[in-house]
Amino acid sequence: MTHSSPYEVAIIGAGPIGIELAVCLRLVGVRTIQFDAGQIGHTMTWWPRNTNFFSTSERLAIAGVPIPNNHQQRTTGEEYLAYLRAVVEQFDLPIQSYEPVVQLTRVANHFTITTAPLTGPATYTARRVVLAIGDMQQPLRLNIPGEDLPHVSHYFRDPHDYFRRRLLIVGGKNSAVEAALRCWRAGAQVTLSYRRATFDDRRIKHWLLPDLMAQIEAGTIGFLPETVPLAIHPGSVELCPTSGGAPRQHATDFVLLCTGFRGDQSLLEQLGITLYGPNRVPAFNPETMESSVPGVYLAGTVAAGIQQRYTLFIENCHEHAGKITRAITGAWPQRLGDVPTRSYGLAFERFEAN
Ligand SMILES: Cc1cc2nc3c(=O)[nH]c(=O)nc-3n(C[C@H](O)[C@H](O)[C@H](O)COP(=O)(O)OP(=O)(O)OC[C@H]3O[C@@H](n4cnc5c(N)ncnc54)[C@H](O)[C@@H]3O)c2cc1C
Repeated sequence: MTHSSPYEVAIIGAGPIGIELAVCLRLVGVRTIQFDAGQIGHTMTWWPRNTNFFSTSERLAIAGVPIPNNHQQRTTGEEYLAYLRAVVEQFDLPIQSYEPVVQLTRVANHFTITTAPLTGPATYTARRVVLAIGDMQQPLRLNIPGEDLPHVSHYFRDPHDYFRRRLLIVGGKNSAVEAALRCWRAGAQVTLSYRRATFDDRRIKHWLLPDLMAQIEAGTIGFLPETVPLAIHPGSVELCPTSGGAPRQHATDFVLLCTGFRGDQSLLEQLGITLYGPNRVPAFNPETMESSVPGVYLAGTVAAGIQQRYTLFIENCHEHAGKITRAITGAWPQRLGDVPTRSYGLAFERFEAN
C-alpha cells in the first residue's frame, strides 16, 4: 500500500525519546507519523519482570509529564510502560506499532519509507526522518555451538523460571549480577561464569556488588572467574579457563547469556550516514542532531553508535528532542523531561534564550 501524501516528519522508533519528540512536534502542529517495529516502549517489554530503573523517576519523565507512583521510589519497567501508554493517549500520538521500517530512500527533496507490517509492505513519504531506534535490537552473540538450544537464552525474563533448577549465568556486569542475585533468591542454584578475575564496580549498581560478593563468599552463589563457554550441550556447558588450561564440563539445566546487546545500524548504512570508530558512532551536528545526511536526525541512544560503553541513557537524551524540535520549528519545546530545566545545562541556556 502506498500512502502518497507526504508527512513533514517520520519518526522511526517509539521508545521514550521518540515519543518525547513526537509530543514536542504534536504540540506545535507538525504533521508527523511514527513507526515501531514492536509495541511502543518495546525495549522495556523484554526487561526482566519487576526490574527497577537505576535512574530516578523524574529523570525518566518525558515531555513535562510527571511519573506518578505511590511509593516515591525508582519505577519498574512495567510502571514505565503504563506511563508511556498514558502519554501516548494523552497526546493522541499517531503511532503505527508492529510496523518495522525496512528501507529508507532519499528521492529528490523527500524520503520514501518502506515498512513491513503483518498485512504486507507499505510505503510512506516524509520530508524529514528521525531515527529514534535505540541501540539494543540484537543480543551480542557468542557464536558458539549450542547457543540456540531451547534451555539457553540471552533474555532474562523471570527468576521464577529457574526455581529449584541449576542455572549458569555467563557475564559479569550489571545484568549478570542482578540476574544471579534475583534467581538465587527465587530458589535457583546459580553459578556465574565471567571471563575476568574480578568485577568492575563502576559497571555495576552500587547496591548489588556487596550483596553478590557476600553470597560468593558464603558459597551460596558459585563463581567461576576467568572462564568462557566454548560450547553448550543439553545438561552441561564446556567452560575454558581464559589462561588456556583444559576445558571442563559444568553441569546445568539452564544457561543465561548476559553478554549485552547492540544496535542494528542497517537503516543508517542504507542512508549512507558516516559511522566512526569501533563503536560506529554516527556523525551528527550536536546543535541540531542532524546526521551527515541532510534531513535525517538522530534521537536517543542511537546517537551513541553500537554503544558498548553506555554513554547515552534516557535521562541524558531529552535534549535531543529539544534540539530536533528547534531545528525543525525554530523554537525550543515548552515541555521537556521533568527535571528543573537547569539540569539540561546548555539546553537550559538555549531554552532561556528562546
Ligand atoms: C535492564 C535495563 C535497565 C535499564 N535501566 C535504565 C535506567 O535506569 N535509565 C536509563 O536512562 N536507561 C536505562 N536503560 C537503557 C534504556 O532502556 C535506554 O536508554 C532507552 O530505552 C533508550 O531510549 P530510546 O528511545 O533512545 O530507544 P529505545 O527505548 O530502545 O526505543 C527504540 C525503539 O525503536 C524501535 N525500532 C528499532 N528499529 C526499528 C525499525 N527498523 N523500525 C521501527 N521501529 C524500530 C524499537 O522497537 C524500540 O521500541 C536500561 C536498559 C536495560 C536493558
